[in-house]
Amino acid sequence: MIGMWKNFDLAQVESILRVPLRIGEDTLALTCPVCGSMTLHWYAYASPFRSKARVAYVWCSNCRHYHGATGYVDSWVLPDPLAPASADERLAFESDLEAFFGKLDRLWSSGQLPQIRLRP
Ligand SMILES: [Zn+2]
Repeated sequence: MIGMWKNFDLAQVESILRVPLRIGEDTLALTCPVCGSMTLHWYAYASPFRSKARVAYVWCSNCRHYHGATGYVDSWVLPDPLAPASADERLAFESDLEAFFGKLDRLWSSGQLPQIRLRP
């Protein structure tokens, strides 16, 4: 039986952030602080609701822990494989974590994630 998605706890989030996530660089999967597997993945997008806001997720495909956060960005330089989605579609995706992380895992497997910074 497949377990439910759980949040990383605060100490686990801190341990993930101790190695700064080099968003947009050639960062491949990272080590998960819960299960130790190299299956910690990430995805970020420009918030459709607030300018200069970024929504970012990290999740472990192996033990099914995740963390989501909103942060500030100066400018948006990442390709977004989900860019055609409307704000409403994004809310729908993210309200079903099973489907959402399943979709992101498929993008990761197919090479559309991780997002690599666009070169000018
Ligand atoms: Zn894990």
